[in-house]
Amino acid sequence: MSNAQEFDSLGLRPELLGNLADLNYTEMTMVQAKALPLLLEGIDVLARAKTGSGKTAAFGLGVLNKLDVASFCVQSLILCPTRELADQVAKEIRRLARAVPNIKILSVCGGAPLRSQTASLSRSPHIIVGTPGRVHKHLRDGNIDLAGLQTFVLDEADRMLDMGFTDELNAILAYVPENRQTLLFSATYPEAIAAISARVQRDPQTVDVTEDEQPAQITQSWCSVTRENRNAELVRVLRAWGGALNLVFCNTKLDCAEVDDYLRGEGIVAVALHGDLDQAERNQVLVQFSNRSASVMIATDVAARGIDVKDIDAVFNYELPPQRDVYVHRIGRTGRAGKSGIAVSLVEDREMGRLLEIEKALPDAHLKHCGIPDAKRGDDTLVPLMTTIHISAGRKNKLRPGDLLGALTAQGGVPGAAVGSIDLFDTYAYVAVQAEHASKAQRQLNGRPIKGRKYRARLRR
Ligand code: ADP
Ligand code: MG
Repeated sequence: MSNAQEFDSLGLRPELLGNLADLNYTEMTMVQAKALPLLLEGIDVLARAKTGSGKTAAFGLGVLNKLDVASFCVQSLILCPTRELADQVAKEIRRLARAVPNIKILSVCGGAPLRSQTASLSRSPHIIVGTPGRVHKHLRDGNIDLAGLQTFVLDEADRMLDMGFTDELNAILAYVPENRQTLLFSATYPEAIAAISARVQRDPQTVDVTEDEQPAQITQSWCSVTRENRNAELVRVLRAWGGALNLVFCNTKLDCAEVDDYLRGEGIVAVALHGDLDQAERNQVLVQFSNRSASVMIATDVAARGIDVKDIDAVFNYELPPQRDVYVHRIGRTGRAGKSGIAVSLVEDREMGRLLEIEKALPDAHLKHCGIPDAKRGDDTLVPLMTTIHISAGRKNKLRPGDLLGALTAQGGVPGAAVGSIDLFDTYAYVAVQAEHASKAQRQLNGRPIKGRKYRARLRR
């Protein structure tokens, strides 16, 4: 980025600024540079920027900068369309708030038990991150008091509308005080967004960075396939051009399941993300992929929306999507942060029309027609480096990442350097360890008590 701006021009509180340096957030992303100065003045902001552009820190820093920890009331309500996105946002805000002592950030989503949520709500969180349905329920039941609310945030507003949350949002608005700052973030800007902005915001300033973002370096190509050989050709393109992390897009969840079976049958460690999974299954799929213990994630567009996995090497279209902007969204998952990426589409004769439509709409996209080279023998790019271990205890058992790391490395355990990401959920956790240490790691975790109790550890493949 040529005209990069640093965070210290903003007048943020010193503890927030210092922590940003620790997080290695040296420069603002485009949406942060444009939205934060407005946001910090207390102005309502309507921002559009694509997935992965750093929208969470944009509103998160705005919210945190004006928060008063000594005041025990809900000062900010952040709504997200799904539990997963709410969890991602809560996690990012906790990271940004690490240097602010005693701050309480609570995630309030469907799927979690009501009773413990109600108990947590009674302990006056400063920030609530939640999904509309569950937040509305607690408001109705009188478990959340928004009288002291300062900032109301709608994240992924376009998706919330897509998912039919309009009524729920309207109902929530009745509990939100008039005098507040309202921030609306979205990846696209359909007319419905203008309508909701008009309803919830006051003199909003619009920030749109979709135009100025640097074009990603994505090499796009397509290969001819037939109905009969599509699965086999997918394996060949994966072996020829795939990297450590590959995303395969299917148009339907049926295709997702079929491709998943096929790739597993070929010995490729794949996971599938589609609408039929329950929350725990989705968490596991995302963890296995992002911690690098699966090299391929197969997904439908709906299931993959908004999900942030860094460093995807290549995107494969098992089939071209019927809409051009879906194509753009898909390939935009690779080639992030100045890196280059690869996008390969499998096209049957009868799908040529879609290909032409996409090329017409994207004048500078040259989709090169490619034959598929045979992969080098003994090539193991698709073999994941890591293996995931599931542990039958999580945050509710007061487990911390350090406890798991400690158990793994204790007395003749695995080397610390062999341990990858540790993901904690309420009642379970995952650790990634280098594949060659997986069995030993499992024995370590099964063999010794963690915080005085023994839990079960199982390998996930
Ligand atoms: P969006 O909501 O726009 O899809 P996110 O807020 O999820 O994007 O951010 C995408 C990723 O970028 C996250 O992993 C976040 O930690 C990282 N990120 C955000 N801002 C910065 C920054 N200024 N410098 C470096 N990384 C950042
Ligand atoms: Mg986001």
